[in-house]
Amino acid sequence: MILIDGKQIAADIKDEIANQVRKVIVGGGKAPHLAAILVGEDPASETYVRNKEMACRQVGFVSSTYRFPADVSEEELLETVDFINRDDEIHGLIVQLPLPGHIDNQKVIQRIRPEKDVDGFHPVNVGRMTIGLPAYVSATPFGIMELLRRSKIETRGKNCVVLGRSNIVGKPVSLLMARNEEPGNATVTVCHSKTQNLAEITSRADILIVAMGKPEFVTSDMVREGAVVIDVGIHRVESDRTKSGFRLIGDVKFDEVSKKASFITPVPGGVGPMTIVSLLINTLKASKKEIYG
Ligand code: NAP
Repeated sequence: MILIDGKQIAADIKDEIANQVRKVIVGGGKAPHLAAILVGEDPASETYVRNKEMACRQVGFVSSTYRFPADVSEEELLETVDFINRDDEIHGLIVQLPLPGHIDNQKVIQRIRPEKDVDGFHPVNVGRMTIGLPAYVSATPFGIMELLRRSKIETRGKNCVVLGRSNIVGKPVSLLMARNEEPGNATVTVCHSKTQNLAEITSRADILIVAMGKPEFVTSDMVREGAVVIDVGIHRVESDRTKSGFRLIGDVKFDEVSKKASFITPVPGGVGPMTIVSLLINTLKASKKEIYG
């Protein structure tokens, strides 16, 4: 079994990005600039935005965060998006979700110019990705494809089973695995809560991508000998094995499934570290106008 080391792969990508930024600056260009809009004081969102700011510093990006109290009006938020849209110095914008209930998430996302939508949530980017045009692909599916690419895992002609059909993971990763490109060209089956005979389907997978949000749901009897297993799930559970009293687990029962898999991502340290790195890659592309010219 080979462990797919997302932490190492993410560190390698950060080094590559930092090198590219240095070259841009030496050539008289400007560093990529990523802006984030953060509403309220949700601790998970605060952590994500802080990590994003740190990652930007590490690779030489400029980073700015627009903070608002939880009772900010939708209008003020939309005006801020318009302001950032007009600012040529800012290449990418993310709006940290979820937003408070009185604000329409979709309205805000759709206000971002697709050229700056480095989270890849705007319907224009989702649509472009779906029909195979250059697009910003959202962080988690992008990260999964990059893990497969860099681990040199053959996907062409393989049976890929995706467990989950969410808009942020299952659906886009299924499309990417089925596209006529490498990695891709897999024969993809998408499973969800109404799927029957789940274990029978997952047992046929050469590549099993699990994004269900169900702790340790996938057990070894659901996995074929030699399968590649990508575990997207993240769950914090109580533990007497750690100092903090908590540990992270995935949607896959790692101890038993890792004995059967040829490649597997651990949790933590698999898909997770790729998320912010994917955002950095998209922002670099935005600064070079690679997607929209
Ligand atoms: P989600 O929106 O809750 O979607 C879960 C999907 O799993 C749904 O399509 C659901 O089917 C399906 N499902 C649930 N129970 C099932 C069952 N018993 N049998 C078959 N299918 C079942 O979750 P998500 O946003 O995709 O996230 C999935 C997991 O990944 C979560 O643990 C999340 O925390 C984690 N995550 C991690 C990262 C990262 O960076 N590592 C990023 C995003 C998400 P229905 O559509 O029929 O309801």
